Amino acid sequence: MSERTQARPNGRRPESVVIIGSGPAAWAAAVYAARARLDPVVYEGEPSREMIPGGQLMATTEVENYLGFPEGITGPELVERMRQQAFRFETRVVSAAVTAADFGRYPFRLAASDGTEPDALVVIVATGARANWLGLPNEQRLAQTGGGVSACAVCDGALPAYRDQVLAVVGGGDSAMEEALYLTKFAREVIVSHRRDQFRASRIMAERVLAHPKIRVRWNTQVTDVLGNDQITGLKLKDTATGERSELAVGGLFVAIGHTPNTAFLQGQLTLHPTGYVKMPEPWRTVTSVPGVFAAGDVMDSYYRQAITAAGTGAMAALEAERWLAHQGVGESPVLETAHELVGRAG
Ligand code: NAP
Repeated sequence: MSERTQARPNGRRPESVVIIGSGPAAWAAAVYAARARLDPVVYEGEPSREMIPGGQLMATTEVENYLGFPEGITGPELVERMRQQAFRFETRVVSAAVTAADFGRYPFRLAASDGTEPDALVVIVATGARANWLGLPNEQRLAQTGGGVSACAVCDGALPAYRDQVLAVVGGGDSAMEEALYLTKFAREVIVSHRRDQFRASRIMAERVLAHPKIRVRWNTQVTDVLGNDQITGLKLKDTATGERSELAVGGLFVAIGHTPNTAFLQGQLTLHPTGYVKMPEPWRTVTSVPGVFAAGDVMDSYYRQAITAAGTGAMAALEAERWLAHQGVGESPVLETAHELVGRAG
């Protein structure tokens, strides 16, 4: 064992692997790290007004595209099963949020909302991202009860409730374009509602939307409320140019106005993109700007944003952590060669 693994002078031993998060990336990392006998501890967060542990799946009613569940499964149930799988291998779970990190010292030091300050030889950041919402009175209620409001067309668009309906997409970026185009497979008509008179999206995506026979764009349109008790029936709209108000009957609303990665606690500690996502210096790896700190899932991925891809990168992060620790003299022999070394050896 290297010096790095020795108990610190005050007798506190650092954790070998601290995983921060509680979505698919975090639980996959926990299962892999625990099975590698790294004795991981997961800081799963605590319920707050903004977030409940479990991440975005907690607000997803039916998940039909996570492999292994041919009948589908609800988002919360899927998360609970992942959590139980991590428990099965004796992962320790702390129901507290990590509120600050100091990666300038080693072992790394974290501060948690329960007042503890765990030290860690490896940190896996899997804190995810949260969809931005319009903040309308009925939006959250209908989103959380499966009432026809969603922030993910790829997740929910194929559900029977949306078939042959008039569906609205709010936003003018690439996500909104992508969601609108995807929804044309199921919807009778897709209406893109954008607050300005031109899209922010890349030209090619915007052109595809504008040319699509099933898509109609409502420019200069702000959604001011969502109508419906148990199920969405329509939207209240306001023309941002004239102030004129109207109503639109729809069978579904897809909010696509961007995501915010949960990286506020990392400011100054890891290199982030200007958008807040963790910057990954190497493609197809989970290493970050700080050796020994890995990132997985939506916190580093603004592109795929799927439960299954998040779980995949969680597994990658744990494998990389295991290898990195082995190089520091912790754990058993490394199981994964880096691409660099393999290429180097082949050459
Ligand atoms: P985005 O580019 O930031 O666009 C967000 C859109 O939502 C903007 O049009 C914005 O309007 C609108 N918006 C923001 N807040 C709003 C509010 N409160 N009410 C109404 N509208 C609001 O976000 P994104 O579309 O999620 O894309 C994020 C990044 O991922 C981009 O870099 C994008 O290129 C990339 N991406 C790429 C692909 C692809 O290549 N296939 C797919 C998805 C995303 P304004 O325009 O008026 O600001």
